[in-house]
Amino acid sequence: MRIHRLPALSDNYIFALEDPQRRQVVVIDPAEAQPALELLDTIGAELAGIWHTHHHGDHIGGNRDLLARFPEAVVQGGAEDRGRLPGQSVYLEDGDRVAFGGREAVVLFIPGHTRAHIAYYFAPPAPGEAGDLFCGDTLFAGGCGRLFEGTPQQMQNSLARLRDLPDNTRVWCAHEYTLGNLQFALTVEPENPVLQARWESVQRLRRDGRPTIPSLLGDEKQTNPFLRWDSAALQAVTGYQEPARVFGKLRGMKDLF
Ligand code: ZN
Ligand code: FE
Repeated sequence: MRIHRLPALSDNYIFALEDPQRRQVVVIDPAEAQPALELLDTIGAELAGIWHTHHHGDHIGGNRDLLARFPEAVVQGGAEDRGRLPGQSVYLEDGDRVAFGGREAVVLFIPGHTRAHIAYYFAPPAPGEAGDLFCGDTLFAGGCGRLFEGTPQQMQNSLARLRDLPDNTRVWCAHEYTLGNLQFALTVEPENPVLQARWESVQRLRRDGRPTIPSLLGDEKQTNPFLRWDSAALQAVTGYQEPARVFGKLRGMKDLF
């Protein structure tokens, strides 16, 4: 399985999983159809499926045009998103397994950004290799999604589940928000040396017009304030110790940042 990262709209990424043997592709959260159609033409593949993490417009905008061209493509997403994903015919629950391109992903129900949000986690194909997490707008590089349909407690639970995955997991989040996220992170944890180093490297990448996605979950654990409710510095800044409260306070601060 090959993974393609397709920039879309102003700051979205569509991810395309390619099965080169079968010449099939699955797209994850097609913000728009055009970048996916161009890829399919370029590699001469057919669209086998559309996988969703959640129902927001910038994650489903391409469905109609993609399905017009590939009516057989199977649209899947969270069971709780029933009625909100155009063309959906597969309704996924926590722990379900979905296979593509010789690999298998487990579905993680991670509400908070929306009440139906799911992620897809592919364990490493072989020992010593990286796993792959497609987490939509829940975990971002250096940040996390806003709470549109969930509580801080739900989101913190969801992020805790993602944090439990191995360090060597590529985080394929749906937006290029890293620079702004790290800017905020530095205001709440300015003394974190790993964060300082990441800030330097992300600034360089963006100056060169390069993507910061995927990131590595191990780096997120060390630098992303929304996974760091255990950090003494963040507990001091928020005035809380209980994880959901530390998280909720930080999320509120970020909303105003
Ligand atoms: Zn969203
Ligand atoms: Fe989004």
